[in-house]
Amino acid sequence: ANSVLSSYGTTIFEVMSRLAAEHGAVNLGQGFPEGLEPPVLLKSAARALLEDSQQYPSMMGTPALRRAVADHALRFHGLTVDPDREVMVTSGGTEALGDCLFGLIEPGDEVVLIEPLYDSYLPIVRRAGGIARLVRLEPPEWGLPREALAAAFSDKTKLMIINTPMNPTGKVFDADDLAFIASLLERHDAYCVCDEVYEHLIYDGRRHVPLIGLPGMRERCLRIGSAGKTFSVTGWKVGYVTACPALLQPVAKAHQYLTFATPPNLQQAVAEGLASPDSYYQGLAGGLQARRDKLANGLADIGFKVLPCYGSYFLTTDFRPLGFEGDDVEFCKHITVNAGVTAVPVSIFYQAGDVRHYARFCFAKKDEAIEEALRRLARFF
Ligand code: PMP
Ligand code: GLN
Repeated sequence: ANSVLSSYGTTIFEVMSRLAAEHGAVNLGQGFPEGLEPPVLLKSAARALLEDSQQYPSMMGTPALRRAVADHALRFHGLTVDPDREVMVTSGGTEALGDCLFGLIEPGDEVVLIEPLYDSYLPIVRRAGGIARLVRLEPPEWGLPREALAAAFSDKTKLMIINTPMNPTGKVFDADDLAFIASLLERHDAYCVCDEVYEHLIYDGRRHVPLIGLPGMRERCLRIGSAGKTFSVTGWKVGYVTACPALLQPVAKAHQYLTFATPPNLQQAVAEGLASPDSYYQGLAGGLQARRDKLANGLADIGFKVLPCYGSYFLTTDFRPLGFEGDDVEFCKHITVNAGVTAVPVSIFYQAGDVRHYARFCFAKKDEAIEEALRRLARFF
């Protein structure tokens, strides 16, 4: 059947993971962690599965998880959040994004998006009837082009989406970027969907600053988090949205009619997880930072030009110094099939096909997997 969505192929993450499995490749493509799941979280889930209810929890999320999300926002970001009126639990960050877009966009509304962009944004914006206004960040700096961003806003702008820390660039929007975005949102009376699923995956002593905490932004921003990223359990699909009641209301309606709820046992485990001591969060970021460095140094030794990564669990690399002639899609297939290591082409995060020589590697993997991938690539190039 023809629809806005029928023109989209299978997501690159699925395509590359399948190819990796077929060829026995070390999969540094699709972003999912290996070996980082906190054992206490798994124990909490097991207990909750055996002892707690198996039935529909409250639509907005269990009281325990909503309270934990609010407590976490205060503890890490100084945000005061009402757990009863300003938090909604979703089946992953992906559902949260969909709920925000379906809940807020009316046909003909304009939506400002920043490329490179996560693959679910654009199809859902379009399906909701939104008109995308794309603004490009260019490698290797990924700087925010202020004039282009300002020009993308109009009196038809309903909302913008930002992703910080950012997939696939590893960019962390700085205070100036955020203040500039806030000024545009105010000037154009627009909202911002803040995809902050990587909020705890941030390195070298940087701190994540939620846009919703800036002056005037409380009534304009919807902040999205994901237990999949914060606890390295991407298969659980537990996410959360935080927004003022007036903004959350239409978004909750999308959730009500799309999934209605999220497994209560997993919500309970995540609620307990969010209350983890600081050492958990520091260990997560510290462990990932060490893996980032191991992979970055190894790839650089092999000849890749490795771009800086300040957050998320992705490294972007320029493979031209290796002498490969084809584009990034060909390169990622080539190394999967012939070197036994999988990466993801960065061009899929853009609409126009002119950024063609960058490959993204995920470093949230066991040390042995990173070492094996580096050995294979070193042998091959
Ligand atoms: N946003 C971004 C930028 C992501 O990389 C991901 C990870 N897949 C998500 C949202 C979705 O998160 P979840 O797995 O919780 O649905
Ligand atoms: N966010 C993950 C990535 O960027 C993948 C999510 C998915 O496969 N849907 O690789």
